[in-house]
Amino acid sequence: MTVTEPPRTMTNRVIDDVAIESLRAEFRGALLRPGDDGYDAARQVWNAMVDRRPALIARCTGVADVLAAVAFARDQDLLLAVRGGGHNVAGNAVCDDGVVVDLSLMKGIRVDPVARTAWAEGGVTWGELDHETQTFGLATTGGTVSMTGIAGLTLGGGFGWLMRKHGLACDNLLAAEVVTADGRFLRCTATEHPDLFWALRGGGGNFGVVTGLEYQLHPVGPIVLAGPLFHPLDAAGELLRFFRDSAPTLPEAMGCMAALLTSPDGNPLSALVPVYTGPLDEGEAAVQPLRQFGSPVADLVGPMPYRAAQMLFDAAFPAGQRNYWKSSFLPGLADVAIDVLADHFRRAPSPHAGIAIELFGGAVSRVAPEETAFAFRDSPFNVIIFTAWDEPAEDLANISWARELWSALQPFATDAVYVNYLGDVGDEGRARVRAAYGDATYERLAALKRAYDPENLFRMNQNIAPA
Ligand SMILES: Cc1cc2nc3c(=O)[nH]c(=O)nc-3n(C[C@H](O)[C@H](O)[C@H](O)COP(=O)(O)OP(=O)(O)OC[C@H]3O[C@@H](n4cnc5c(N)ncnc54)[C@H](O)[C@@H]3O)c2cc1C
Repeated sequence: MTVTEPPRTMTNRVIDDVAIESLRAEFRGALLRPGDDGYDAARQVWNAMVDRRPALIARCTGVADVLAAVAFARDQDLLLAVRGGGHNVAGNAVCDDGVVVDLSLMKGIRVDPVARTAWAEGGVTWGELDHETQTFGLATTGGTVSMTGIAGLTLGGGFGWLMRKHGLACDNLLAAEVVTADGRFLRCTATEHPDLFWALRGGGGNFGVVTGLEYQLHPVGPIVLAGPLFHPLDAAGELLRFFRDSAPTLPEAMGCMAALLTSPDGNPLSALVPVYTGPLDEGEAAVQPLRQFGSPVADLVGPMPYRAAQMLFDAAFPAGQRNYWKSSFLPGLADVAIDVLADHFRRAPSPHAGIAIELFGGAVSRVAPEETAFAFRDSPFNVIIFTAWDEPAEDLANISWARELWSALQPFATDAVYVNYLGDVGDEGRARVRAAYGDATYERLAALKRAYDPENLFRMNQNIAPA
């Protein structure tokens, strides 16, 4: 931590019991303190590397609870963390000694099938939202693992299989309802508090607690063409070059990733994963060139419900393992970078380690960089280096492996990083947090932070210091 870093622990702060009792009187959800039933479960997040002990977990049931919990943390001068889906690798959804405003009980969803919109509360996950919207054959761009929270993902930008056709999750956000640091409840849209609405689409959790999100929906599925094409790891170099060279020809209705991973039975593999969400016959034609590449060891591409496509990676990313990620946007996939990736993956210390390369373009790049606080619209690729393991004794080997690969890739990467894939600031450093917004966007966000959160109440995040 550098000297400019705002305090993120408040050891020795004594919480005022009288104040907690008066909060309890106006709180509908559960208030959990250390030792209470459910406290230990409620402080766990997806990444088991994060083991924090909040003084109070405020499990909110609605906006009234959120308003009360935010006022309590502010008035008691306590560190405050906000939990949506609890899925972020950095683990900022929980804090030591402070208050967690936990939205995970806030599961309300309302779909308007005529207007093709959906409103959902801040504790909803993508699996839950897809469940409701797909009932009407509709969906919006959402994460590729169904347990991820809609709020955290959308506030950082939001990548998913639909983004090349329909834009990022934040591009489909029509409105956000926000509890601000000074206790206001604001509905933000393109015309109501448009400055805040701009900031919320890429600026992460810096500006308040988002209690409700309204999305534009699109007709999707219900059956789509999706699944992995697995190849031997020896084909990794060729496969990544093929992925790079084919990328400009892939239709926007196809989301696609390339990956290096280990199968559940221990075989190291390379893979292409297309998800085509247009008509199935067009999908078959679009997938054909991918099928013709090399000699797949397994072709699992086939028609499946869109909701199943949205869960293709669920089993690979279970909650409760120790996790470490590094990532960067890539301006292209240089041959040397491909060789580095293929070579380094062979030394992966864990069968749960992998490399994924996401493909952008299409609707993502048609939005001007200054239109939302998510600015990185022109990178064709993003690389995520991830690894997961169980034993603390394996921390060093896994973390070192990811860091070494990331360092070796830097000559071929941009300076930019996706805010939602960034690790803890203590590990990544302040410069990387700034890089996650980009200089121009950071300055604009810092000015808005001064307007909406001058005391930096919302600082358990990839923090933007008030200007
Ligand atoms: C297995 C896995 C798969 C992923 N796949 C994708 C993917 O396909 N596409 C993609 O874009 N990202 C993906 N991500 C990254 C994901 O977008 C981030 O981890 C995101 O922060 C998760 O949101 P959450 O609500 O679950 O997070 P949480 O851990 O609950 O919150 C993370 C941070 O977001 C902010 N936040 C969350 N909820 C609110 C709220 N209601 N109001 C204000 N601030 C809030 C807070 O600052 C909080 O610290 C993935 C992550 C994981 C672990």
